[in-house]
Amino acid sequence: MKVYKFGGASVRSAEGIRNIVKIVSAEQGNLFIVISAMGKTTNALEAVLEHFMKAERDEALAKLEEVEQYHYGIMDELWHERECHAVARPLFDEIRYYIATGIGDDYDRCYDRLVSYGELLSTTIITAYLNTQGMPCTWLDMRRLIQTDSNFREATVHMEESQDNLRQAVDFSRNRIYIGQGFIGANHKGIPTTLGREGSDYTAAVVGNLLNAESVTIWKDVPGILNADPRIFPDTVLIPELTYLDAVELAYSGAQIIHPKTIKPLQNKEIPLYVRPFGQPDKAGSVIKATTTQPVDVPVLILRKNQTLVTLRPRDFSFVLEESLSKIFQIVSKHRLKVSLIQSSAISISVSIESSRYLPGALDELGNDFKVSYNTGLELLTIRGINPDIQRKTTEGRQILLSQRTRRMGRFLMKEEEE
Ligand code: ASP
Ligand code: MG
Repeated sequence: MKVYKFGGASVRSAEGIRNIVKIVSAEQGNLFIVISAMGKTTNALEAVLEHFMKAERDEALAKLEEVEQYHYGIMDELWHERECHAVARPLFDEIRYYIATGIGDDYDRCYDRLVSYGELLSTTIITAYLNTQGMPCTWLDMRRLIQTDSNFREATVHMEESQDNLRQAVDFSRNRIYIGQGFIGANHKGIPTTLGREGSDYTAAVVGNLLNAESVTIWKDVPGILNADPRIFPDTVLIPELTYLDAVELAYSGAQIIHPKTIKPLQNKEIPLYVRPFGQPDKAGSVIKATTTQPVDVPVLILRKNQTLVTLRPRDFSFVLEESLSKIFQIVSKHRLKVSLIQSSAISISVSIESSRYLPGALDELGNDFKVSYNTGLELLTIRGINPDIQRKTTEGRQILLSQRTRRMGRFLMKEEEE
């Protein structure tokens, strides 16, 4: 069997969903399809949640109404009949009931409860559509199948329990095509969890692992894996083959193309991961696998925005680097922040951290042991396979606050470019 994953951009319109029909009908074998929320639905549901948490029920409902109309708009285009809304309406009724009666106590827990509806909606609608197109498929509620820990908003999958659940639910001798939500699961008590933003790729990899897929394919609105983000850098090229190690390095440096957690479940079973262009299903795209015949021979550029450089000077002068580092990392990970770079000197430690709503709390706590100063509005450029020419082209005229070099790699923390 194969796993196909379609992301939010692919399912943001009726046209995208019709394209899924085209892609799926070209596959004769058994399929497990993982789907994200449609378009920007996750962001929109986050906005609903913000109101809900502040007990602004009317505003939450108004925002939800926009999400509902957006989905109905797509359904109208697919079916051209008003009754079709009935497919999705029960889910919107559930959300409305939750907004009317729920209590916004724990942000992360409420987040997962509410935001997980994005994927429930998209899969419900797409399953119904495929069924009306003569393509019978079976909808699965991944909250019942993917069991996770209780780390709400950033949950990790418990593989054994999920494997038992999934193998019971999926029987290819009965149905050829199954559809499940990316990004969502539940803890052992059945309370919904999510796997972190952009986590649907991780779901696809987990399903691939648990069902021993022959391959996992992520259909995306890009030609494949490029050596840089074409929205930021000119002259990008396609990288046809990468190893798992290449992919991990890229994901770690912040390449948006694959979620960092995606690789391990695939590497463990040597399942190849294809990244293919949704708009041109006849093109091969890129493949990530154990070994390749063509090593990556172009510089790879990765830009991570929204960085804050935090410089910490221990308050007592008996500076033991190991102790300070472990203290810093404890606090940073407790506040769920992501460190993208570390540098230490005789008197200070600098870390680049991805800005988030949790950063102020962490800086506060770090202030107990360290003198804290910080710089916001930065971006981190990583160049793998660096050469002087590419370094000059990408950093010329920019204010560089910190740089690191190894033989193959250069990293530059710079002031964000003015738009
Ligand atoms: N819908 C979720 C998000 O937008 C998960 C995903 O798309 O992978 O983050
Ligand atoms: Mg997405």
